[in-house]
Amino acid sequence: MIAVILDLKKVFLVENTVMQFCAEVDMSEAGTDVTFRDNTVKAAVKVENRAGFVEFTADVGFVCCFDCDRCTKPVSRDFHFQFRHILVLRLSEESGDDYIEAPDYKLDTDTLLRDDILLALPSKHLCKESCKGLCPKCGKNLNEGSCDCVLQEPDPRLAALRKLLEEA
Ligand SMILES: [Zn+2]
Ligand SMILES: [Zn+2]
Repeated sequence: MIAVILDLKKVFLVENTVMQFCAEVDMSEAGTDVTFRDNTVKAAVKVENRAGFVEFTADVGFVCCFDCDRCTKPVSRDFHFQFRHILVLRLSEESGDDYIEAPDYKLDTDTLLRDDILLALPSKHLCKESCKGLCPKCGKNLNEGSCDCVLQEPDPRLAALRKLLEEA
């Protein structure tokens, strides 16, 4: 993995300087359970000095493939995010969460964007929010219709016993 180190000296020193470029973020070794359809994710990056504040914005769009957490169906999903950070040469105690340190005017955009993307991905991967999942008895995908399994325990005493066992 080649780190892309950005030299931002001019942007930091000259007000109203704008720097725009397309970054390619290598997600092949990102260490996540989703698969990126393309190993490289393209990001439209803009670094701008606005009245002394250096603002970093990046627009990314990509497709992820994963198995639904509930019904295990393989799905691919489009994601679009915009990330925004304020770049500072040195973080101070007052710096908020969106502040990023660029020591010596240098910024590792690759690492920053990869972390942004990983943080932005949802922790639950569902084919759709209303996914009904699989029947715990027969394994049928309940999104495709219901099955004939009786999931309600006919004997309430048995149900109570099962509940106790599950809690143990
Ligand atoms: Zn699902
Ligand atoms: Zn069933």
